[in-house]
Parts: sequence; structure tokens; C-alpha cells
Amino acid sequence: MTITASGAAPSSILEGGHAELVDSFETFIRRELVPLAADMPETEALPPADLRSYVRKRSAALGFYAGEYPEELGGSDMPLTAVVLLHHAAGRSGCALAPYALGGSDGPSPLLRNGTEQQIQRYLVPLVRGEMTRCLALTEPHAGSDAFRLTTVAVRDTDGWVLNGRKTFVSNADRADIALIVTATDLGDDRPTGSTAFVVPMDQPGLRIGQRYEGMSGEPMFELLLDDVRLPPDAVIGGDRGVGAATALAIDSLSRGRLIVAATCNGIAEHAVRLGLEYARSRTAFGERIGTYQHIQEHLVSSHAEVESSKLLTLASAQLLDLGREAPENAALAKLTASETAVRAVDRALQIHGATGWVRGHPLEFLYRHVRMMTIIEGTSEVQKVIVAKAMGLH
Ligand SMILES: Cc1cc2nc3c(=O)[nH]c(=O)nc-3n(C[C@H](O)[C@H](O)[C@H](O)COP(=O)(O)OP(=O)(O)OC[C@H]3O[C@@H](n4cnc5c(N)ncnc54)[C@H](O)[C@@H]3O)c2cc1C
Repeated sequence: MTITASGAAPSSILEGGHAELVDSFETFIRRELVPLAADMPETEALPPADLRSYVRKRSAALGFYAGEYPEELGGSDMPLTAVVLLHHAAGRSGCALAPYALGGSDGPSPLLRNGTEQQIQRYLVPLVRGEMTRCLALTEPHAGSDAFRLTTVAVRDTDGWVLNGRKTFVSNADRADIALIVTATDLGDDRPTGSTAFVVPMDQPGLRIGQRYEGMSGEPMFELLLDDVRLPPDAVIGGDRGVGAATALAIDSLSRGRLIVAATCNGIAEHAVRLGLEYARSRTAFGERIGTYQHIQEHLVSSHAEVESSKLLTLASAQLLDLGREAPENAALAKLTASETAVRAVDRALQIHGATGWVRGHPLEFLYRHVRMMTIIEGTSEVQKVIVAKAMGLH
């Protein structure tokens, strides 16, 4: 953060090792993505599919997209700390195309890292190269936070599996090449079963998109209907060891996902602080720049303090994970703090702009709607608090 006049912000001490990488990513955003996004209003949540596809592939060719994946799969073998810093930089850039330069909820999935060799080559490699996109179908009308109380069920039959049920709020279902679908498992005997994750081509007979939901900031989500979807045995992610084991396969990716969302939120919050600061320095009221008024300073200093604290928490949690010492409650705490911080920072920056920030088309008007999803996705704030409370012995 370059807000302080007196020197580096405290969090920069944890960023140092990857300064060159972040620099080159920011140069890529500035030189290539900003001009491409120039014709696209910042209020447009979803860039056209061909533009997103170009950005993915170009970023993959430069080694940014899916950087955390091994080189033999097309990634750059980056530690999580580096990945987190790139997501932060994308959020901070304010460029509508920057988030698409990094693998997100439509990109390579850690679930597939636990796939069979065939699944890795057939699906994960093209996802890492940005040549394919996917969606994840986990949530159901009656199973959201309680994500493994599923009623969509996979029944084992002689040829493989038959899936029936209904998924909801699935992002990218209209563009994805494949769906990762998590179901309850019925083995046809009395054995205890868990949930199973399947990889399913979107044109698989029996699988279709139902209702389309329009998110507050224009991101669509979809219902997925499964009506006797017949799959071969090798559609189970992880093969035989994946049967009834989706939770185990997903568990080590939860902290990573949460830290990436936290980093994006920190970036958005920093961007909001910068917009607020620029306005506070230029706008006058009652004959003075509004930044000289303590009420405005209160907004900006509070946000700055919260963003810096949140960045430290996210970066420290990422570094612990890179050292193999991350505990799930750290990522939960980081995601909770960052998402709540971003919502507040955007709200305060809009307040500083008065009516100007509230007008449709202003970057803050868009961010205000966009950032609101962050306390819901990748586990709601309440769910993060449940995880932290448990770690504190409160259960
Ligand atoms: C933008 C966006 C994109 C999404 N994309 C996808 C996707 O691609 N694929 C997918 O499968 N899903 C997706 N979802 C769904 C998302 O995963 C769920 O919304 C989320 O898991 C919360 O579930 P829910 O909405 O059913 O809320 P619920 O679980 O019903 O929760 C309702 C309220 O109760 C609280 N609550 C629940 N349990 C507890 C508890 N134990 N203690 C205290 N409070 C609790 C929650 O925090 C929340 O405030 C997306 C959602 C959004 C907003």
C-alpha cells in the first residue's frame, strides 16, 4: 500500500520476496488488460466470454493464471503467498478484467488435484492452461452452509453411477465445459456413505440448466437439474478412493480458497481506500478540502487500519500454509476479517463521495454491490466464526 507518506506500510515486510512477480503482474494489467477493459464500463460485472477466454490464455502463457499448479501441469509452482499477492493486486487494480487473469471459481479446481492421472490430464491440464472452464455444483435448495447434507444422490448400478437431484446457485454453469458435482452416495447396501464428487461434461444427457438467478452486481448463477445422469465409474473424482470421500478430498483446499478470497477482498478494500483518499484530497465543502474534516479522516484512517491488519493476517496465514503449519481457523479468521473489512471500506468510500459515489456507473456504486457477496461465498462469516469458535474450545 502506498498511502502513507512516511514510508512502507507494515504489510510490505511480508510481501518482499515476491515483489518482482507482483510488479510484472501489475505491468501486465496496466499494459494489456486496462486498454482491453477501456471500452467496458467498470459496472459491467461479466466481460464477454471471448474476452475472458483471451485473458485466461494470455495470462497462462505469461505464467500468472493458475500459478500455484506444478509446472508439469502448465502452472508455475508458486507458493500460496505469491498467489495471494497476485489476487490482492488484481483486486487492488480496479481493472474489471484483472480477476479473470487468475484462476477463480471457474478455473482449475484443487479437487481435481486429487483426481486420477487420466482426470488430471483430461481436465486439470486444460483448466490450468485456461483452455477450459468448469463450474462447481455443491449447494442445494436445502443444503447451503450445511453443505454435506445433500439430497442429490448418486446410486451405484452395474455400469457405473446414476445421478438425480437439483443443485442451485452454480456460477459459470452457462459457460463451463465441465461440472464438478458433489452428491450423496448410495452404494445399494447398508454401508455408511459420505458424499462423492463427479466430473461431468456439461453436455452429458440428463444434465441441464434450470433457472437463472441474477446476482446483485450482474453475476449470474444457475440451477442445475440432474435427471438420470448416467456416468461411468471413472467419473468419480479420485477413482475408487473418491467414493464417499468428497469431504476428505476437498478439505485441504478449503484454507487455500478462503485465503484467495481474503486476498481479493483486501485488494478491493485497498482500492476503495485509494478512491476515498483521492476524493477527500480534491473535493471541497464549506471552503475546505473534505479530507481536512475529522469525520472524513475517521472513515479513511479506520479503513486503512483495518485493511493493513487484514493484509497481515492473510499473508501470515498464507506463509504458515506454505510452511505446512496452517490451521483451518487461521484461514477462517483471515477470510472473515478481510470480507467484513472490504464491505466496510467500500461503504465508507462511497459515503465520502456523497451522491457522486451512489450514481450508477461510478466504480464505488458497482463495488458496493459486488463486494457484498464476499461475506457469503467460500463459507459465510457466521460459518467462519463457527470454525474459529470451535478452535477456541467453544463447542
Ligand atoms: C456469488 C455467489 C456465487 C456462488 N457460487 C456457487 C457455486 O458456484 N457453486 C455452489 O455450489 N454454490 C455457490 N454459491 C452458494 C454458496 O456456496 C452458498 O450461498 C453458501 O454456502 C451459503 O449457503 P446458503 O446461501 O444456503 O445460506 P444458509 O446456509 O441457508 O445460511 C443462511 C444464514 O444462516 C447462517 N448460518 C448457517 N449455518 C449457521 C451456523 N451453524 N451458525 C450460525 N449461522 C449459520 C448463514 O451464515 C447465513 O447467514 C454461491 C453463492 C454466491 C452468493
